Amino acid sequence: MEILKVDNVTKTYHMDGEDVRALRDVSFTLDAGDITVILGPSGSGKSTLLTLLGGLSSPSEGKVYCKGKSLYDMPGEQLAQWRNKLFGFVFQFHYLMPELTALENVTLPGQVARREYGVCEARAAALLYHVGLKDRMIHKPGELSGGEQQRVAVARALMNEPEIILADEPTGNLDAKTAEGIHDVLWELCQKEGRTLIVVTHYEPLGKRADHILTLNAGQVIKKRS
Ligand code: ADP
Ligand code: MG
Repeated sequence: MEILKVDNVTKTYHMDGEDVRALRDVSFTLDAGDITVILGPSGSGKSTLLTLLGGLSSPSEGKVYCKGKSLYDMPGEQLAQWRNKLFGFVFQFHYLMPELTALENVTLPGQVARREYGVCEARAAALLYHVGLKDRMIHKPGELSGGEQQRVAVARALMNEPEIILADEPTGNLDAKTAEGIHDVLWELCQKEGRTLIVVTHYEPLGKRADHILTLNAGQVIKKRS
């Protein structure tokens, strides 16, 4: 079943009187439960594409559909609701709250969604267990390694059981071995729970494990294995 559809999307940034075309006439579809890897050189439009898919930035032309609904034709408040409910984000930098423990950080999206704290805490503990941090739950981010911090960020992204996980170079700051561990955890959790996963990475071998590879080049997309 189709979950995301990008239809003739162009994104142009205006900066210092100049137009930067970050995406040019991009079209593709993705099915629910699929795992997609996005590859491409720096500046090719990967992050721009991810923000468009996640309801964070509107295209200059074209449409983005999620579950058949045109995201950027919704009123802002409704789009915000969809975004919070449907998407989990993992970025290159973890953006964890330094004063909170790993467990508390993971519960945060649940609290924002006004879920009962006990329910949030139980799910957060289960997620931290699954990402391999059962002995680190009451540590603060500053007491964790870079890889552990990113594992917490992965758990946090899954807190509200989003249907779609968008990860933008989640291992960009980590060594190869640590990076592999993070990707394993992301993959396992998404597959186990049937979530759609879209990962931007520079690590090409990851493409072998994906259902689709989207390769970006100067704002244009080639989709393989659809
Ligand atoms: P990638 O993630 O593949 O490195 P980006 O999507 O970040 O690529 O950027 C694509 C192009 O758009 C680049 O030329 C970049 O400089 C430009 N760009 C990205 N974000 C902005 C912005 N907020 N304002 C102006 N130009 C931007
Ligand atoms: Mg980027």
